[in-house]
Amino acid sequence: MKSYIFFCLALLYMLSCKNSTSQDANYKAFVGARIIDGNGAEPLEDGVLLIQENQIIAIGSRDEMEIPDQAEVIELTGKTIIPGIINGHGHVGDVQGISGGHYSSATIEKNLSIYAKYGITTVVSLGGDQEEALPFRHAANQNPVNRSRLFIAGAVISGDTPAEAVQVVEKNHEMGVDFMKIRVDDNLGNATKMSEDVYRAVIDKSHELGYQIATHSYYLEDSRKLLEAGSDLLAHSVRDLPVDDSFIGLIKEKNIGYCPTLTRELSTYVYEDTAAFFSDPFFLKVYRKDTFRPLLDPKRQAQVAANRSSQIYKRQLPTAYSNLKKLNEAGVPIVFGTDSGVPTRFMGYFEHLEMEMMAEAGMQPMDILVAATKNVAEYLNLEGLGTLAPGHFADFIILDANPLQDIRNTRSIIETYIGGRVVEE
Ligand SMILES: [Zn+2]
Repeated sequence: MKSYIFFCLALLYMLSCKNSTSQDANYKAFVGARIIDGNGAEPLEDGVLLIQENQIIAIGSRDEMEIPDQAEVIELTGKTIIPGIINGHGHVGDVQGISGGHYSSATIEKNLSIYAKYGITTVVSLGGDQEEALPFRHAANQNPVNRSRLFIAGAVISGDTPAEAVQVVEKNHEMGVDFMKIRVDDNLGNATKMSEDVYRAVIDKSHELGYQIATHSYYLEDSRKLLEAGSDLLAHSVRDLPVDDSFIGLIKEKNIGYCPTLTRELSTYVYEDTAAFFSDPFFLKVYRKDTFRPLLDPKRQAQVAANRSSQIYKRQLPTAYSNLKKLNEAGVPIVFGTDSGVPTRFMGYFEHLEMEMMAEAGMQPMDILVAATKNVAEYLNLEGLGTLAPGHFADFIILDANPLQDIRNTRSIIETYIGGRVVEE
């Protein structure tokens, strides 16, 4: 009897303890900021973002929101909160400094930590991913610490025959990937382009196994054919010709995302000279001069200036700009991506440069933010990510300045949160 009473008392104590811990269960209330939720609606002024552990619990205005007594309150009057940026076309794990060929767990971890420092809270790696990437893949029950979430596409699928290429699809499937990826391009006449029978077989097989497939293309005609064949994402701009009405009609009818990767073009020619961003303090906060010094070498710069491909990509950039403007105005979903994580495409920083280039192309800051948050999550089916909404992961950035006034204000990062945890500088 005595032990029974003791047991009951102990149980009661445990329950009351449990109760008190659940009451102060790591609520954090970010109070007073302008909140841009990623949906494209007017920002919420003097808002409250309430999170618990790794999740968003509620968003509302200061007057109407009830903040739990136990919540840690973080005062952010005058600041802006935006969702974490999602790079829908990056690469991870190959690059150290400005050279490639370093694929390893350590490089993946390092690359993802660089992205995170720049507020890029999720990266969709569209190819070049190997077994070492598997432990880093996004999982709903895993919280990355000081690094971005990762989705992978495995090996970029290639092959001379449908059978050969389909084998690569199956290998990726066995390894465990999130997406498939192909390239349909002759690299300005320097390579053999994947033929239509091969890419149709790859697209069909990918769909049969339940994957979305992202497609690399350069030419309008290939992009059109890839849409017809079932591409789920045009992973680069159309750069040879202006998009026409039939193309716009087709991409809208298929409701497929268009990923501009303007900084990819920039990276092909910008080192013919000293890149302006080499003196941006935001660039220099991660990238040291020792890292990019080889790009200042006059001999190397002269080689870039004399390179035929570089100069064609440079000449075609205005076509990419006007196509982006036209497609955005036509209501085509723009899905943010940079193709960074390739040598000399500086991870993290290039995402902010991409947003600046999208603005130069004629997009409004709000549309750019939607492209870099909601649209990537929606068109690539990234569950629980993208917008600030109850039940979504607490991935967000606190900015000192309003990006709706100038998109370059995305660089005024005070803190980045991934899964409710601050990314350490
Ligand atoms: Zn790429």
